[in-house]
Amino acid sequence: MRLTDLDLRLASLGARPVHRDALLRAWLQGRPLHAAGTTRQQVADVFPKALREALPQLSAELDDLARIRSEHPAPDGSARLLVDIPDGQMVETVLLPRDGVCVSSQVGCAVACRFCMTGKSGLLRQVSSLEIVAQVVQARRRRPVRKVVFMGMGEPAHNLDNVLEAIDLLGTHGGIGHKNLVFSTVGDPRVFERLPLQRVKPGLALSLHTTRAELREHLLPKAPRIAPDELMALGEAYARRVGYPVQVQWTLLKGVNDGDDELAAIPALFAGKYAVLNLIPFNSLEGDDYQRPDGERIVEMVRYLASRGVLVKVRNSAGQEVAGGCGQLRARAVEFVNTRGLR
Ligand code: SF4
Repeated sequence: MRLTDLDLRLASLGARPVHRDALLRAWLQGRPLHAAGTTRQQVADVFPKALREALPQLSAELDDLARIRSEHPAPDGSARLLVDIPDGQMVETVLLPRDGVCVSSQVGCAVACRFCMTGKSGLLRQVSSLEIVAQVVQARRRRPVRKVVFMGMGEPAHNLDNVLEAIDLLGTHGGIGHKNLVFSTVGDPRVFERLPLQRVKPGLALSLHTTRAELREHLLPKAPRIAPDELMALGEAYARRVGYPVQVQWTLLKGVNDGDDELAAIPALFAGKYAVLNLIPFNSLEGDDYQRPDGERIVEMVRYLASRGVLVKVRNSAGQEVAGGCGQLRARAVEFVNTRGLR
């Protein structure tokens, strides 16, 4: 369901703009629809009769947009949610420590990054704007949410209209600070054209992973062919425009992109840029083609880069103790469901 569908439905029930806004605010904040409004002014009390009578059915339909199938807490304070969306599909949503949530924007993904479980399935379906927002609603029913990152399953640039609509809703009725909405992309010209035009301009995360164009083409075979320095320049222009730094994502793969050649090239690429480098050690499972570098190597890399003026952080993929990494939980659940015939 997209926002336009919901708007048509509300209009047919006699909802005026003030009713629609109150309903959206209640839903996005994880409150019941019948509690729309404030305690001072219970807007729901003055809804047209048809709208009041439709609230239970409407609530049930909104709940159906994202239903928690299972919840997998991790010792780091995060929790992976396996979420059923309509049409029998599943996505992962991750509750992050410090009031964050990571949402999925597609079932599967067409970029086919070699180190990513989601990429192995190809693109199965787009996630609608309201299905994206519904993941945040589910998170808010469990804990406070002040940050939403679009780093779950899928490439947000490949579902741009839905993602931008979700961002707009979350940054307005959802009350989330614009820089705390983080659009993560492998880099797509449409992103750099559309984001600056939005009413809600999110933070930007670029999945770079290497300074070498040919290695990037190998690791991200279906990403647009934008050279790393060009991608950094595009990210920089957006960061300066919105006033918050671009987050550069670098999944660390042992023996692939943790070498001295990369270390030598990174400072030049970051020189003068309004950017933060996030090193994310790969979360290896048995049988994976890639491995995470040793701890000492990661420390060495951070020290070297920091000494060359790069703002660098090490980020662990949340919830990795419970089969973390993009799409791994869903992949396991599908395997489980298929082998046990639960669906
Ligand atoms: S890492 Fe992200 S962009 Fe790459 S295949 Fe996985 S979901 Fe898609």
